[in-house]
Amino acid sequence: MSEPLGELRSAELGELASLVGQRQESTRAELARMTGLARSTISQRVDQLLRLGVLIEAGDGVSAGGRPPMRLTLNPAAGVVLAADLGATHSRLALASLSGHIEDERGLEIDIAAGPDLVLDWLVKRFHELLEDNRRSPGDVRGIGVGVPGPVEFATGTVVQPPIMPGWDGIVVPDVLSPYFDAAILVDNDVNIMALGEYWSRGLEDEQMLFVKVATGIGCGIITNGSVHRGADGAAGDIGHLRVSSDSDVVCSCGNINCLEALASGSAVARQLAAEGLDVKYARDVVRLGQAGDTQAVRQVRQAGRRIGEVLASLVSFYNPNRIILGGALATLRDDLLAGIRAEVYHRALPLATRRLVIETTASGHRAGVLGGAILGAHGALAPDRLSHWIRSGTLA
Ligand SMILES: [Zn+2]
Repeated sequence: MSEPLGELRSAELGELASLVGQRQESTRAELARMTGLARSTISQRVDQLLRLGVLIEAGDGVSAGGRPPMRLTLNPAAGVVLAADLGATHSRLALASLSGHIEDERGLEIDIAAGPDLVLDWLVKRFHELLEDNRRSPGDVRGIGVGVPGPVEFATGTVVQPPIMPGWDGIVVPDVLSPYFDAAILVDNDVNIMALGEYWSRGLEDEQMLFVKVATGIGCGIITNGSVHRGADGAAGDIGHLRVSSDSDVVCSCGNINCLEALASGSAVARQLAAEGLDVKYARDVVRLGQAGDTQAVRQVRQAGRRIGEVLASLVSFYNPNRIILGGALATLRDDLLAGIRAEVYHRALPLATRRLVIETTASGHRAGVLGGAILGAHGALAPDRLSHWIRSGTLA
């Protein structure tokens, strides 16, 4: 029988469970070292988590002399996490463990412009298939992380005035999914979940990281010590509409002039190449030409890189990140894009701000978003309110 747990105690237990999840497994001694808490306090909390069935003992660890310490891990039977990275025309869906480790994953075509009714109904069906294929039931789902290609008010999971998602403005995604899953349902924009996925899949710690997506548009996810910085309204990192220098004025979709996105995004480069007479329409056409070594495409991509670098140089001085990661379709043309970006950043930003700075392309590629969705769902699953909810509802212990 479960004992009543206050919010404070479930916060403490949730934090400890998250820590075990992040590292896949830990010993009591390691947890004491990482948290700075007394061994007796850790033992007490671990015992509670074992009793509740959140953690299990996974066998002996490496002994430092004497009896080997017991390794702890999240209990696979305690539940699973679902993740979705919804793009304009493609999506990636996954089933993950409570630590956010992906166990099954699939890429599927979608049309986000078909509207929230059709797309979310489709998503629920695909999630059910994913569960069934892995011999899991909807009742096993503890957390869901969803990324969408537009602005999101994170606290409520509401889509806010998305430019490429007709019909989605004001849709509260968790409200639509919650009748099907009694889980923590967290929704964020695609760039933030890509940033989260890249950060955690690289096993980074204590880093200040910017993840810049250069695709049809341009956006930036900001990670501070493992968490996404979203700002007061969830609009942090919207760098696509910062102004850059240009010889001629280009009007942006937002109505302003010479926005970064209007000059250096995949669709902007496609437009410039089309104006030069090439058969180019989308960002993916630019990638195709660049990969084939087309000199016009390469020149324009490098120019786009310099413009992105101009904005990033200011961000480097302002935020002092130690890592900038480039993702999105245009990052496939890494050498050409990076050349322009690095040249501008190191030329413009102050030496102290670039001393330890690494600028590189994504290591997780098109999987960054779904990896981040799984991490987001896992964090939500072990949040204090959800942990108390599990315990109260008797699904644990
Ligand atoms: Zn703009």
